[in-house]
Amino acid sequence: MLLPFANPPYSQDNVEKLIRFCTSPQNRHKPFFLLMPNYFVKKNYYIEKVDNGQSLRPFYVAPRKRYRYRTPKGGRDQGHDCEKTLAVVGHEIGHSILHHNWALLLVTMGNLFVLFFSYGVFQSTPSIVTSFGFSENETGNAFLKIQCFMAVYGMAVMPIWNILMNAFVRQLEFAADRYAVRLGHDISSSLLKISITNKADFNPDWLHSWYHLSHPPLMERMEAAKAYQATLSKKQK
Ligand SMILES: [Zn+2]
Repeated sequence: MLLPFANPPYSQDNVEKLIRFCTSPQNRHKPFFLLMPNYFVKKNYYIEKVDNGQSLRPFYVAPRKRYRYRTPKGGRDQGHDCEKTLAVVGHEIGHSILHHNWALLLVTMGNLFVLFFSYGVFQSTPSIVTSFGFSENETGNAFLKIQCFMAVYGMAVMPIWNILMNAFVRQLEFAADRYAVRLGHDISSSLLKISITNKADFNPDWLHSWYHLSHPPLMERMEAAKAYQATLSKKQK
């Protein structure tokens, strides 16, 4: 009789318990088959119980290529989902290593420059008040100039700036995603999980996302990560 044919959970002491069970005196003469990562064969309890050069003579079957192990959906509780967390941490470290904080600081300073520059233009252009029928030195001009400045800045300058800013920040996000992929993480599944948790729109209209969203939509990021992964594997070959 073949005793356990098992793919145990690898966390905690599950594997050790299973091995103890398979090699216990009452199961001593029953063969068993275990499917697990090869690092377990170097564990002391494994060597002692199974591969001790005495009664048991185990044999091993291993894939030639390193394989990727995926837990079936729902097979792992959320608390142990380290890989997804690691991928996100890899992404954030990517931001830091690629100096995105400095890039954003520069862009913010650019924004301040645009703000003060356009304010200056309005303050030093008399036609802003004269074209409304006011004379150049009237009291209350300062208010009118500020009013015009705020209207134009809010309705024309900022929207254009926002679009440029979104386009820029997106490039940083893609770069950080690539960094996580280079580290060997599956950033796509983390992004998917974040999007599901946040109830985000997976694939918004391009015009909407172009104007409103600083981060690229999920589909674009997953596609980009996949494409980058493909070029990486091509390079490795
Ligand atoms: Zn990011």
